[in-house]
Formats: sequence, structure tokens, C-alpha cells
Amino acid sequence: MTDDPTTSHQFGERRTYYNNFAGHLLNAYSPNMTYPGSAHRWSDSDWCACIDMVAGFGYNVFEFWLVPRLFCRQALESDFGREFSRRMNVVCDHAHRCGIQVEFICGLATVGDAWHTYCPNVPSTWDEIRFLWDQWTRNSTGIDIVGISPGDPGACSRNGCTALTYIDKSCEIAERVKHDLPSCEIELHTWGPPFLGWGNYLDINPTTPEYHTRMVELRDLLTALAPAVNHEASLHPAPETYRRELLFFAQLLADLSGPAPDFDALAERYWQRVYSIYDQLGEHVDPRPRHATRSLVDAFRKHSTKPEPVPGKWSE
Ligand SMILES: [Zn+2]
Repeated sequence: MTDDPTTSHQFGERRTYYNNFAGHLLNAYSPNMTYPGSAHRWSDSDWCACIDMVAGFGYNVFEFWLVPRLFCRQALESDFGREFSRRMNVVCDHAHRCGIQVEFICGLATVGDAWHTYCPNVPSTWDEIRFLWDQWTRNSTGIDIVGISPGDPGACSRNGCTALTYIDKSCEIAERVKHDLPSCEIELHTWGPPFLGWGNYLDINPTTPEYHTRMVELRDLLTALAPAVNHEASLHPAPETYRRELLFFAQLLADLSGPAPDFDALAERYWQRVYSIYDQLGEHVDPRPRHATRSLVDAFRKHSTKPEPVPGKWSE
């Protein structure tokens, strides 16, 4: 891929595609990289198709989070951890052929399924953190950039730990990484406590009938576009899958904003399409999938005229 100077000027020299497949963000549209036997596993060829798409969009870095479920001894010693390393090395090789660098980002000291924050000021846990960094660095020989997040997704404030502790300790880890991967670049990230910086939100509030009208228009447009899909376009999943998924959401949002919606049934429809993998995995430490479902439906429920009670269902 050539780096068109116009693209660099408009979008910057480093254009990163970030795929967050962490345990709290699993869904039908994200690869399941850490739970073998559950839904949404991607094959090597799925990954190569995804990288082809990313390259086609003009990105030049593919970034992923080395999630806490992987950043622990249990993962290093298990099949799912070894399979993850193998898969990411395949991705690195294909990305390099496409002119794309690969970056992993990782919290300094957040370990395991429970996202436990190890204290960098306790010698035994600091030794464990250094061991985990060394092992994952050595497993990731194709990596071009290592991003260290001193305080995301959380940090310790015991035993004299401050933000400065986390910066000092991140610098120490950076030196260890450079020792094993001399050509890799180090990024120090600023997202999350103790630095702050989580997202901002913009409220857009058309009336519910206006919104409903637009969603019906979108649904009808997506339906009419079926014969026009370019099946050769380099998209992953395939272009027709994208159209059908967009159509699902247009219909869902039209129904949520329509007259007298059955909100419980619509919440279940959304959950089954997007998040049903959690019915196989149980509760995750981070409740965002369930909150996201409730928030989506409640955003429409609060603007709805109060429906008649449905027999057999609890109502306020
Ligand atoms: Zn501490």
C-alpha cells in the first residue's frame, strides 16, 4: 500500500484501526478471541479478510488490546492463550504483507479474568507483572508497536502508589520490552484513571415520531438496495451481511419508536441478535452489555406514552 500524501495530510501519518475484543465487549460483530467453544470465533481467513478491508480503508496500523483474560499465567499455560498467540502472529504476517503495522496495547498491571489490579509497589506482585510482560513480549515477535496504559483499566492507590508510580513502572516495562523487541516502538497511553479521559457524549434528540419516520425510511432504503450490493467489495463480513445487519437495526429502531412497543420483547430481540454469547459465558466482571441493552430500550421507553399493562407482566 502506498501512503498517499493527501491521505497523510488529511488524516495523519498514523491511522489506527482498533479492534477491542475484550470480555466486556463481546458481541455478534466482534471476534471472540478468548472463549473457545462459544459463538463468534473467527478463522485465520476471517482475520486476513478483515485486514484486507482495513488496508483498503487506508489505515496503516492494526491495534488490539491484550486483554486481562490473556494477561495472566492461566492464559499463558492454556490452549486458548497459545491459540491466541498463534492467531495474532498469522495476523501480523498478513498485515505486514498489506503494509500495515500491528500494535498491542496492555494495561500495566491489570491481570486475569477478574481484572485484578496488582500493586507495582509490592515486590512479589511486581515480579509477576514483569514476568507476564516478558512472556507476552516474547510471544509477540511480529508486533511493531507496544502501547502501555499506565492507568487503564484501573490502578492501585495502596502502598504509596500514585500516578507517578505508574509512569515510572511503565518506563521500566518499556525498557524490558525494548530489550526483547529492539525494533518495536513504545507508546505510553493516557486513557483512564489516574489520568481521566473517558468519552464525551452528545445528545441528539429528535422527537420519537420524527425518529420513527427516519428509521422506516432507512429500513425501506436498505430493503430497496438489495439488488445493488457490490458482492466484490473488500468488506468483512461480506457486503450482503452488512446490509442485512443494518436492516435488522433499522427495523428494531423503527419498532422501538413506533406506537405501543413491547419493550421487553424488543430488548430480548436485541439481546439475542447482539449479546447472546453472554448466555453461554455467564456474568462478566464488567456489566456493560446488560447496561447497554437496558439503556437502549429505556431511552425509547421514557419518551413513550404509557402503554396499557400487559397481562402477566409487572408494571410500575
Ligand atoms: Zn499499589
